[in-house]
Amino acid sequence: MSETRKVIIIGSGPAGHTAGIYAARANLKPLMFEGLARGGIPGGQLMITNDVENYPGFAEKITGPDLMKAFRDQGIHQGVEIRTEDVNKVDFTKQGELKVWAGDDNKEWAAQTIIIATGAQAKWLGIPSETALVGKGVSACAVCDGAFFRKQPVMVIGGGDTAMEEAMYLSGLCSKVTLIHRSEKFRASQTMLNRVLKNEKIEILMNTEVDEILDVSKGEVTGVRVLNNKTKEKMVVDVTGFFVAIGHTPNTDLFKGILDLHDNGYMKTKPGTTQTSMAGIFAAGDVQDFVYRQAVTAAGSGCMAALEAERWLAANSSH
Ligand code: NAP
Repeated sequence: MSETRKVIIIGSGPAGHTAGIYAARANLKPLMFEGLARGGIPGGQLMITNDVENYPGFAEKITGPDLMKAFRDQGIHQGVEIRTEDVNKVDFTKQGELKVWAGDDNKEWAAQTIIIATGAQAKWLGIPSETALVGKGVSACAVCDGAFFRKQPVMVIGGGDTAMEEAMYLSGLCSKVTLIHRSEKFRASQTMLNRVLKNEKIEILMNTEVDEILDVSKGEVTGVRVLNNKTKEKMVVDVTGFFVAIGHTPNTDLFKGILDLHDNGYMKTKPGTTQTSMAGIFAAGDVQDFVYRQAVTAAGSGCMAALEAERWLAANSSH
C-alpha cells in the first residue's frame, strides 16, 4: 500500500472535479478515481448531455463533454492526480485510514478523508425485450447512440427533462421521434416541454406504455408494441431505435451496509453539509441529491465537501 493520502475523491462529474480543484488549491494533493465502467462514464452524466444552457458563465451554450473537459483540465492544472480506474471495494472501519481498492490489479490506497461523488446513472424499464436488445437498437443515451439512427424513426420513453432533451436531440438526426409517456402529466420543465411541443418531428403519445420491443428473434429493433393504459388498445409503432429516458439510480452500491443511505438508495448527508454517517467521509453531487440534480448544484456541493474535508483534516491531523 502507498502512503496515506489526505483526500481521495471517488467520481469525476462536476461535484468530483470541483472538490478536486478546491482540495488541490488547499494543498491537500487530492487523488481522484475518475471511474471507467462503474457509474457509466468518466465525467459523469454531462458526458451524455447535449447542450448545456444553464451552467453559469457561458453566454453561449456549451456541450456537456466540453464543459467536463474544462472541469478536468482545470483540476489537472491545479494539481489533482487523476487515475482512470474503478474503485472496486472500500473499507472505512479505521478512522483516518480509510481504504479503497481500485483498478484491474485491485491496488490498495488509503486516505484520511474520502469525498464520494459517484453520481447517478440512467434507469432501464427492466422488460425482457429491452434487456435482450440493449446495444442492438436499445439505448439510454441519445448523444452516444443517436447517430446510428440518422434519418430513421425512433422512440423515446419518459416525461421528464431528460426525455425532452433526448427527443430534441434525436429530432435533429432522425426522420421522426415518437415520445411516449405513461401518464397525462409531464415532469419536464415548461420551457423544455414547449420546445418539444413545437417540434414537428416529434409526436407525443400520452397514457402509453411499452408492451414489448420488437423483434428479439431478429436481434434488432424493428418496432415497439405499445399499450394505451386508458383505452387498453395496443398498436405497433415502427421504429429502429428505442431510447429510455426515465430517470436515474444513484451509484451507491459500493457503500451499501457501510454508510447510511436513504430508502431510495441516495447517500444520506447531514442537512446543510456534505457529512455522511461516518467521520471524515463526505458526499457531494447527484449521489446524495435527489431534489436538484443540476451540474451547478453538484459543483457547489463538491466545493462544500472539499472545504469540509480540509476543516476535518485541520481538526483531526497535523495537516
Ligand atoms: P424525472 O424528472 O424523474 O422523470 C422521469 C420520467 O420517467 C417521469 O415522467 C416518469 O413518469 C417516467 N418514468 C419513470 N419510470 C418509468 C417507467 N418504469 N416506465 C415509464 N416511464 C417511467 O427524471 P429526468 O427526466 O431524468 O430528470 C431528473 C432531473 O434532472 C430533473 O430535476 C430534471 O429537471 C433534471 N434535468 C435537467 C436537464 C436540463 O436542465 N438540461 C436535462 C435533464 C434532466 P411519471 O411522471 O409517470 O412518474
